[in-house]
Amino acid sequence: MTAQKSQVIIIGGGATGLMLGCLLAKRNVPFLILERNQTVSQHSRSIGIHPPSVSIFREIGLESELLRCANKVTAGIAFVESKMMGEIDFSSQKSEYPFILTLSQSVTENLLEKQLLKLAPESLIRNATVQKIDQKQDIIRISTSDGAEYSCNFLIGCDGKNSMVRESADIRFEGIDYPDTYIMGDFEDNVGNRNEAHVYLTRNGLVESFPHGEKLRRWVLKTDTYIDNFDAVFLATEAKKRTGKAPDVSTNCMLSSFGVQKRIASTFRQGNILLAGDAAHVVSPIGGQGMNLGWLDTAHLAGILEKPDSKSFDKYAKLRRRKAIIAAKRADFNMKMGRAFTSVFLKKIMVRLLLASPIQSKLVRQFTMHGLES
Ligand SMILES: Cc1cc2nc3c(=O)[nH]c(=O)nc-3n(C[C@H](O)[C@H](O)[C@H](O)COP(=O)(O)OP(=O)(O)OC[C@H]3O[C@@H](n4cnc5c(N)ncnc54)[C@H](O)[C@@H]3O)c2cc1C
Repeated sequence: MTAQKSQVIIIGGGATGLMLGCLLAKRNVPFLILERNQTVSQHSRSIGIHPPSVSIFREIGLESELLRCANKVTAGIAFVESKMMGEIDFSSQKSEYPFILTLSQSVTENLLEKQLLKLAPESLIRNATVQKIDQKQDIIRISTSDGAEYSCNFLIGCDGKNSMVRESADIRFEGIDYPDTYIMGDFEDNVGNRNEAHVYLTRNGLVESFPHGEKLRRWVLKTDTYIDNFDAVFLATEAKKRTGKAPDVSTNCMLSSFGVQKRIASTFRQGNILLAGDAAHVVSPIGGQGMNLGWLDTAHLAGILEKPDSKSFDKYAKLRRRKAIIAAKRADFNMKMGRAFTSVFLKKIMVRLLLASPIQSKLVRQFTMHGLES
């Protein structure tokens, strides 16, 4: 069987791989995406889309559709127990997009796939599980589980946190498992203000609620241990106990629990193999930046794949790794703030300090991912 050739092959057609495909199509760089799943994942995992990412959606011609589908969050309201302490005003930032967009990851990936197929109709090969990668000098050979073969000059691993590209390139994935665990659920929004995200710091641990899409609100609650099996009534009762507010259980449409990890690849490059997205870095979802960090990788990568050279690859690997370390530190801070505490008095003082003006502007920049672009 003869191998299908392309200058660039992207392994993984999740949020990162689909975005990279759209960016390469815009630049007329020949590429293929190999994706093992038959369709886009239906799980709503990520909902936050930050200002630097909206600029990338503009570049691929998807800005107006994204703005039409997504919800705009302009303020984060902070509570200690059920007392409102103040707000972080995202609309105060000097940015073309003074808000955080919220949209279910499955809807976002569907938008990206539709755009990719418009820009490069033959580029996405689904049901293609990559099993073997062999890098010899300037040619990389790839085989999939159905016996198909491919070859390319540059291979990009966008195949998620258990990346086989990373493993086959012998790149270590260093980091820790945090003790923190959470439950989350999507419900119809009964809180009201669609532009506000609510963050409750309570003695029993964090509760967050974010409006997303057209009418939903995502509730996230910190738990003492990993809870595998729970129902909407459990989540709502716990939320009510901690905050005085609860979602309407009859409108529940997604429930899930998750633990948290931090992992960063020891290098983002090995020869002509490069990593992007969760294959390169996994940061805590509290703060909602993992997917966006992957998109910022792709914005850098697409530029250098237009005129590839070894120096630019090294620069990509160093710079994006540094940015991932910064993002991981920010996520770490957000997560620690949400841990259970004993002194409400001290927590209130700390939150007041954070909401005071000079620190607040810094927080706004951090929450909206400014400074993490290349
Ligand atoms: C609960 C939760 C909430 C989150 N919230 C946010 C948020 O609000 N904001 C944010 O920015 N991030 C958030 N994240 C993180 C975000 O979901 C991930 O960072 C994002 O999905 C990473 O995208 P990716 O394309 O790099 O990897 P993935 O989404 O893991 O995609 C990898 C793709 O590669 C494919 N693949 C894997 N192996 C192979 C193979 N051998 N051959 C072919 N294909 C393969 C997979 O099928 C998959 O489609 C959240 C995560 C969780 C768990």
